[in-house]
Amino acid sequence: MKQIVFLNGKFIPQEEAKLPVSTPGFLYGWGLFETMRAYNKKIVYFDEHLKRLKKSARLLDIRCPYPLAELKDIIQRIVKINGLKDAYVRLTLWKCEKGTDILVMVKKYQPYTPEKYKKGFRACISSFRQNENSFLAQLKTTNYLLYRLAYAQAIEKGFDEAIILNHKGYIAETSRSNLFFIKDKELFTPSLECSCLNGITRGVIFDLAKKYNIKAYEGNFSMPDLYASDEAFLTNSLMGIMPLASVEKQRIGKGISRYKSTRFFIKKYKSLYIRGQKTIS
Ligand code: PMP
Repeated sequence: MKQIVFLNGKFIPQEEAKLPVSTPGFLYGWGLFETMRAYNKKIVYFDEHLKRLKKSARLLDIRCPYPLAELKDIIQRIVKINGLKDAYVRLTLWKCEKGTDILVMVKKYQPYTPEKYKKGFRACISSFRQNENSFLAQLKTTNYLLYRLAYAQAIEKGFDEAIILNHKGYIAETSRSNLFFIKDKELFTPSLECSCLNGITRGVIFDLAKKYNIKAYEGNFSMPDLYASDEAFLTNSLMGIMPLASVEKQRIGKGISRYKSTRFFIKKYKSLYIRGQKTIS
């Protein structure tokens, strides 16, 4: 079956999607995107994603061409038209000469295997640094080169992920996720000022921590803090919560089999997903 995309008001086969080359979106990367997951045909944390997009669009002077309710409908329709249950959904808005171009694409989501969640990710430390003084670092702009290069570097070296530090040497995030660690049953994560994306899943982790009386701290943390922790994990909308087993081949804590708190978060996060509670649209 041909993949159908939504481009500027039309549902068309992906190979028919054509764009002018002279837009600020293409030439300068003046655009925004959201990556969402459809689980059992429903977009998870839909409202939160659209809220983040709307806020970022305002900051970048990008006008959303549809009211949010209509946008939601378009995204749901594209998942349905493509006959997908579990999908990667990407919404992109970018500046064009007359206003804003919009593209919605979906593809089947291939989750990591249960084995991978059991073993966890192995990360390296990227040589690329994030600029903590730039507000752009907190947005999902179509200028994602730093993250893509960091990720490519990790894969090339045989790792699953790359930890990105900021210019002050504090941990910011990874190339595709937010980072958390646990020490003495308390939760720690870089603050937004360290220049990380205000991840939707990051927000869910805070909600869970609050619900289950787990103390959570945001702040400036460096590699020795992470190495001294008991457990660590990474979060994003596609993979949910992935244990982080090691960094630069150095094991975190006493090993992945002792990751009790991480398993607790994974379990609770999964049940939110499956039961379609609260924020699941
Ligand atoms: N940081 C980066 C660099 C990312 O690309 C992502 C994935 N969007 C995240 C963090 C996690 O964000 P979210 O939980 O909203 O998917």
